Amino acid sequence: MSHEELLARHRAVLPNWVALYYDAPIEIVSASGRRVTDGDGRTYLDFFAGILTNALGYDVAEVADAIRSQLSTGVMHTSTLYLIRKQVELAERIASLSGIPNAKVFLTNSGTEANEAALMMATQLRRSNEVLALRNSYHGRAFATVGITGNRSWSASSLSPVKVSYVHGGYRYRSPFRSLSDADYIAACVDDLRNIIETTTAGEVACMIAEPIQGVGGFATPPDGFFGAMKTVLDEYGVLFISDEVQTGWGRTGEHYWGIQAHDVVPDAMTFAKGLGNGLAIGGLVGKPELVDAFTANSISTFGGNPIASSGALAVLDFIRDHDLQAQAAKLGSVLFDGLRSVADQYSVVGEVRGKGLMIGVELVQPGTREASARAASLVLEATKQRGLLIGKGGLYGNVLRLAPPMTLTEEETDEALGTLRESIAAAHEELS
Ligand code: PLP
Repeated sequence: MSHEELLARHRAVLPNWVALYYDAPIEIVSASGRRVTDGDGRTYLDFFAGILTNALGYDVAEVADAIRSQLSTGVMHTSTLYLIRKQVELAERIASLSGIPNAKVFLTNSGTEANEAALMMATQLRRSNEVLALRNSYHGRAFATVGITGNRSWSASSLSPVKVSYVHGGYRYRSPFRSLSDADYIAACVDDLRNIIETTTAGEVACMIAEPIQGVGGFATPPDGFFGAMKTVLDEYGVLFISDEVQTGWGRTGEHYWGIQAHDVVPDAMTFAKGLGNGLAIGGLVGKPELVDAFTANSISTFGGNPIASSGALAVLDFIRDHDLQAQAAKLGSVLFDGLRSVADQYSVVGEVRGKGLMIGVELVQPGTREASARAASLVLEATKQRGLLIGKGGLYGNVLRLAPPMTLTEEETDEALGTLRESIAAAHEELS
């Protein structure tokens, strides 16, 4: 089947809203390290790690061996009816990494299911269907999560069984409080939170859910300490706090293992997925026992924590620890960040460089203005692809480049990507000036 035929068949049978990247989307037919190869034999450096799913990159022997070893037992039995050794081991490991006292873990197959479960638990425990979320947020595409998403291009709020109120704080670059100092910005957002709780909600709010760095929102990054200050108000009103770590978990932000740890706060629960499976479908939540045990009726995820996914995930966590990938994310993230800042100094098509570790957003604007430029992002995406580099894009206006390579990235690959990004951003700047 030709590439054109595959694309036509994709468009005919898959939903219109499954967006593909690029005018000529590629098919990945093989992959190794941080590089993927398409059907025409062209190789690309993957600077989006799937969608932050391939935390370790591709063809990782340790993960493949763990999966093979589980397969060799013949146990592909998937149910939640009997004991699953690897599931218990994985849950113990995540609980101990979480920093939440006496934490319990519920395993799912995706970030969406993890967040749905967290929302169900919080609303059940608090006997309220009111939720707070940040503007510009994204938490998944099921009934409750899509309804609370605060980003127009990903939401469908009329569907929501949950009542949501949005608060300020996630996306500072286009916030009315953007010119304030960090401390004043945090204070203004805390005031807004208090005001929303007191004037918009019916008063009995179950939880607030937030991404420490907003993923599809364009890696928007609140100042350190922001969520700690917000949590003080949430505690006053008895509102639970859920940190959505689907993109920020497992050391990717460099300095901390979980994104929320930059905020000096222990959440009531954290949800996770993406990088944990290095491509396998696994997600879940870890939280305080009174929250995780909140269901009084039976509830299961048939495939959640199945033996294959749990074995692979354990190998991923071992790999991150054994190769100190968190330190690698911190080190190469700062090289990347500094390099991109210097590109921003030279080309005013870059409005802001932000993020932490290997999670860096580059907000593009019409040169010399603050006006969001989705066109600039499209130009850079195509130009980097032509030069053998795959990157992500996102943001409320589709104008943010998202850089999140596998955490096994090398210095040479970092330099290669920086060179490609510089050339591609320069070309977009020229075209739009
Ligand atoms: N939460 C965040 C922060 C995400 O970025 C995503 C996916 O992009 C989700 C939840 C949903 O995860 P999934 O696509 O695995 O259902």
